Amino acid sequence: MTPIENSKSQISESREQLPLSLLNDYLYCPRRAALKLVEGWRSANEHTARGDIVHEHSDLAGYEVVKGATLLRALPVWSERMGLNGKCDIVEVRPHPSSGHPLPSDGRGIGSLFPVEFKVGKRRQWENDDVQLCAHALCLEEMFNASIPCGAVFHADSKRRREVEFTVALRRRTEATVRELHGLMNDQRVPAAVFKPACEACSLYEICLPKATAADSRAERLARSLFQI
Ligand code: SF4
Repeated sequence: MTPIENSKSQISESREQLPLSLLNDYLYCPRRAALKLVEGWRSANEHTARGDIVHEHSDLAGYEVVKGATLLRALPVWSERMGLNGKCDIVEVRPHPSSGHPLPSDGRGIGSLFPVEFKVGKRRQWENDDVQLCAHALCLEEMFNASIPCGAVFHADSKRRREVEFTVALRRRTEATVRELHGLMNDQRVPAAVFKPACEACSLYEICLPKATAADSRAERLARSLFQI
């Protein structure tokens, strides 16, 4: 299955476009994505503030040319098929093989596209980052009828890139996550909290109160006995 063939089936029946970045939230914790998507909560903490600083440059829309490649910053992307929209931190447009320029003189096609996503932290593989990056690639493939075999996550703390190959398995995982996210939106459902180590770094901790609201929490048990539910 080629990348293009892999990305033809319709995923979202709804006309609603969801923010692509919520795929990252969803894989971090489905409740976190639902609190943002269904209930509209937003909150900042040290981790989100550091993320904002890392994105200061890439959030400024524009372009620059570095070593023959054109770097597009803050490029809006979307997918009708997946019902997603978002913004790529950087898309590198590498020279078209036939002309050596990003845009060939006959106006047909473009050079190869290589999405790069900036993340706080040291170089380390996280599935949520890879899925978010892959979703960017799937949007770009749909928008430009292109084939994008790989991209990269730039880890700000170690200032190192980690290349990510958009394998069939990663594409399927990404599309499955998109379906689950739309399911959450369609059902207007907020899953119960599950307290875990990731909660300590979650900017929605004070809103979620995972120790108090987890399905097996004391408060939950008391509520159940009180209201006999
Ligand atoms: S505090 Fe924990 S359970 Fe609650 S939204 Fe954040 S990660 Fe999920």
